[in-house]
Amino acid sequence: MGKIEKAILFGGQARVAVLDTTDIVSELITLHDLSPLSTVCLGRAITIAAYMVGEFKHHKNCVNLIIDGGGPLGKICVSGSSNTVKGFVENPRLESVYTNTGVLNVPYAVGSNGFLTVFKSIDDANPYTGKVPLTRGDIAFDFASYLQQSESRDSAVVLGVNCSNSGCIASGGVIMEPLPGASEEVLYVLEDIAYNLSNISELLVEKTAKEILEFHFAHFECDILTANEISFHCSCSEKIGSIIRSIGKQEAMKIIEDEKSHTLSIKCDYCSREYKFNQSDIGRFF
Ligand SMILES: [Zn+2]
Repeated sequence: MGKIEKAILFGGQARVAVLDTTDIVSELITLHDLSPLSTVCLGRAITIAAYMVGEFKHHKNCVNLIIDGGGPLGKICVSGSSNTVKGFVENPRLESVYTNTGVLNVPYAVGSNGFLTVFKSIDDANPYTGKVPLTRGDIAFDFASYLQQSESRDSAVVLGVNCSNSGCIASGGVIMEPLPGASEEVLYVLEDIAYNLSNISELLVEKTAKEILEFHFAHFECDILTANEISFHCSCSEKIGSIIRSIGKQEAMKIIEDEKSHTLSIKCDYCSREYKFNQSDIGRFF
């Protein structure tokens, strides 16, 4: 279960969220057989999706986010609604490449020759699309650019995933946003805190998200809000019928006839579940 601990700071001048997405990332590793570098990239993106889901007031609201920077990782796709998230990367087994400072090189994997695109559907209003060019490919800075350019929201975004060949040790982030009327001083303090929390994935090994929130923010007129619990969920089993119907009965039957295995196989990118149908299965969808 992932956790988002939230608080209002400085008497209403800023807000902060501390996210722990370790369990979600562990599940993604199992589902997609992710290499460490692919894990770190997808883990950062899923943390953003969790943050956006944590802002939703209605269970029907949803967000889809695509990061396509032209790097060897390929596209990252993450999605969320109703306190759940899911995601995948085009290249789940990307080999480890390190930066000069010895950490897994996310900007190399993601690339910065492309866009971060967000599709949001809020409260039955027309779906909203925001698209910003990637500048760093580190995902954290790119998400802050998205918030600034598409939603006119300033922010400080720190994301971190600590993983080894044997799995995810910790994953999460800290996202702070000044609220309308915030003083210049508050902005400086937020930047300073973001700098001090740049090792968030190491902190999450030792402490819970709540402990990090209390330790680093309690002295800034901190009003702690109700936390969100976020988990992995894929609803493909509920949608498989409409996918088969969109193919059409005749076409589905023909695919099955032509296939050597005499089955129609559909694999869900988000959870790697594979559905197989023979001709007698198809009849029940029409
Ligand atoms: Zn699925």
